[in-house]
This record gives sequence, structure tokens and C-alpha cells, in this order.
Amino acid sequence: MPEFETVIGLEVHSQLLTQSKMFCSCKSDYQNSSPNTRTCPVCMGMPGVLPVINRKAIELVIKTGLALNCSISERTKFDRKNYPYPDLMKGYQISQYDMPIAKNGELEVLTNENKTKTIRVERIHLEEDVAKLLHRNDPNGSKYSLLDINRAGIALMEIVTHPDMNSAEEADQYLNSLHAIVRSIGASTANMEDGSFRCDANISTRIKGESNLGKKVEIKNINSFRSVFRAIKYEEIRQQKLLTKGEKITQETRGWSDERGTTISQRTKEYASDYRYFPEPDLPPVIISQQWIKEIKSEIPELPLEKKERFINTYKLPEYDANILVNNISSSNFFESTIKQFGNITEKTSKSIANWINVEGGRLLNEKNIDVEKSRLTPASLVKLITMLERNELNSNTAKTIFDSIYTSGGDPAEIAQEMGLIQITDSETIESAIDVVLNNNPEAITDYLQGKESVIQFLMGQVMKETKGKANPKMAIPSIKEKLEKFK
Ligand SMILES: [Zn+2]
Repeated sequence: MPEFETVIGLEVHSQLLTQSKMFCSCKSDYQNSSPNTRTCPVCMGMPGVLPVINRKAIELVIKTGLALNCSISERTKFDRKNYPYPDLMKGYQISQYDMPIAKNGELEVLTNENKTKTIRVERIHLEEDVAKLLHRNDPNGSKYSLLDINRAGIALMEIVTHPDMNSAEEADQYLNSLHAIVRSIGASTANMEDGSFRCDANISTRIKGESNLGKKVEIKNINSFRSVFRAIKYEEIRQQKLLTKGEKITQETRGWSDERGTTISQRTKEYASDYRYFPEPDLPPVIISQQWIKEIKSEIPELPLEKKERFINTYKLPEYDANILVNNISSSNFFESTIKQFGNITEKTSKSIANWINVEGGRLLNEKNIDVEKSRLTPASLVKLITMLERNELNSNTAKTIFDSIYTSGGDPAEIAQEMGLIQITDSETIESAIDVVLNNNPEAITDYLQGKESVIQFLMGQVMKETKGKANPKMAIPSIKEKLEKFK
């Protein structure tokens, strides 16, 4: 069987954090508004009305372009993209065809092998979002659809990559990095659940070593990182199976079903010519001056990549850990607040903070969908938990139990440890008497030790843990077990 290579390009639509819509003065807070309360003749597509460009939206696209090392166009314009669909009020969408605001950028990601790889950003352009269709079932069985126009005309930026990714893991890395960037510069809330950050994936398959691209399948509107990952994995296998059987891949648009875990054919892919693009006659071209770019550049805060370097240099974090932290702005904020509370910090403690946030916090984020900043955990309680662990008042298993409890319900780690009876036994008398009980019950282990079998120490330690319900401090118990065994010699 030939070896295949998957080729992936991503298109991300991100709603911009503007006060008003892209071409009218309707407020953009449509998420929390009743249906059809954020509308006017412009975004409803009434005849004879004129659009006005939102300056802030242009600025946010320039800002994103600069953060992604793009070149910014001196002159940009809007175009009409024509297609009929019930959610498109005017029968065309105002978008940008051949003169996007930003182009030729790049984003560095960390691959599975812990190597950096550059993903080229082809272009970033500005357009308007469309209305929302809500499909309903009547009690008598008939189906109907409702239209909410609040979303129509919301400023939307589209970030398009070259087909530079070769695995679901790389696509996931790119999406996480991009997500962290647009959030950190305040361009978008980038909330995937409410549709502020949506992804289309273009996937094709070719025989490894070939330079021509295979037929491209586009999977539309995937709305979580996990779904993008699963959809690419699924599509990768589907295409490889077809090619192995000698069948052809159809260039088409497919949808992703989360419940079924499959992609489903929707329609054959459109080509640019199907949209009959032409320059928007109601809007003038936009000239972007060097001075304007300079002003926007000065407002860009520390970017995730710079933050990663700082975490590595200042806190001596391994690149892998720093990368996970900076790709989630909640995690990196929480990390820095916790570090501040510690004051003087060792390399070991900063690594420990990163581990609690990335590994245990990451697990709870997956299981319960609670972000560390939205959890009940506070930097102060994490400091306390780590301190108790470092002082051997807890062992790592009991510390995890307490972490889970404060993450979801809050509270003080010391009090919870008391309540749950999890404080580690560091009182030597109690430990010694537990060891005596264990040795009494296991005479054969003593014989084995005397015959040179050192491994019985681990076995006996396990028994001591059992005897103390997991609360004995191993650092105290192990030397004590050895000492007692030696006395039998
Ligand atoms: Zn409006």
C-alpha cells in the first residue's frame, strides 16, 4: 500500500469585538438580545439604503495582520459575493475578493515531535456575518424555519492559511495558537460555543512525495477544537480508504456530525466564479496609511510567542509546558497570578504550578468544560495546596483529590484536607507502629529481605499505605522500614 500524506488548510471566521455592526450602527451585542431587536434597514437589506464602513473593524483586522506578521495593504476594497440563501438578507454578502486587508503572514506552531513549524497565512479579509436560521418542528409534524436577523451584518474576519498542515494535531496547534492571539489582542472573544470563532477545514490526500495536491474536500462550520480534530481524523481515513480501493475523491463540501462522528456530503464545491464577485459600488476603497499602521502596532500587547519565551527564560519552564500555557489566555493569566503570590519561586515550583494548571486543570476542562479562570480555584488556594504538598502534609494522590474539590466547589485546601481526613501522617510514632503491624503480618517478607530480596521494601511500603489509608509519608516510612528490617539480621 502506498504511503499517504494528508494536506490541510484552514479558514477561520472570527467575529470582531466592535460596538456596532460592520456597515450600520446597530449594536453588535446580539448574543444576549431577543431575536430581531438589533436590526435596521441596512442590515435587513432594504432597497435604497447605504452601508458605512466600521473603522474599528478595519483596525482590528490590521492588528491581527500585524500579530501574524502579514503585510498590510496600502489600498483595500470591498466586493459583492453573490449567492442566494435565506440567511443572506441582500442576496449578496459584502466581502473582500482580490484586495484583502492583510496577506502573506505566518504562524509558528509546535509539532508532535516538539519541533517548530511555520504555517503560512495566505490572507485576512473582512466581511459581514449572515442572519441565523432556526429550524423548528411543529407539533403536528410539519417543519418550518425562523429567521433571526440580529447576527446579519456583524463584522467578521476570515483568516485563511496555505495548505501547510499535515495532521489533525498540527491543525489543532495552529487553531489554539491563533485563538490565543486574537484573544490577547482583543480582536475577538473567539468564543467557539457561541459561534464567535468558527472553522472550515480543507482536506486532501496525496501519495507521499507527490507535489500536486489531491481533490479538496471542505468541511464547513465546525464549532469546537475537539470537533475539528475528530473531523480531520475521520476525513483522513475516509479519503485514504477510497484511494486504496482505486476510487476517486469528489471535490465537495461536507458537514460534520458530532453525534455520528462522521462527515456527510452536502453539495459539490463552488468555485470563485460561481459567486460573480464584483466591486461593491456603494463603498469607497480604503487607504491604509503607514501612520495608521504605526499607531495600531503600538497598541499590540505581548503576544503568546513572546510570552512563551519569557516563561521559558524567567521561570525556566520547559518549552512544551510554556506552549500549552500561552495557548490558553486563561491558563497563562492564572499561572502568572499564582507565581506573583508565591513571591520567590524555584524552578521546581513554577513547573509544579504549570503542571497543576495544564494537566489537572486541562483534565477538568475536558471533563466538565470549566476553564481555570471560570473555576472556583484561586491562585491563593493553589499556592496553599502546592505548599502543603512541598511540606509533605499531602501526598500527590490526596492533593489531586483536593484539587478536584476546590476546582469545582472552591474552599480552603487545608480545611478540605482536614474534613476529608487526608492530611498526611508525618508523626513518626504513628508511622512506626503501622510498620510494626505490617512486619508482624508478613514474616515471609522479612525472610525474603534477609535472603537479599531488596524489592520487598516497596511491597512493605504498599502495605503501610494500606494500613494508614494512604496517608503515611513515604519519605519517612521507607528509611524506617529499612532500619527495622536490618535489625532482623
Ligand atoms: Zn443594522
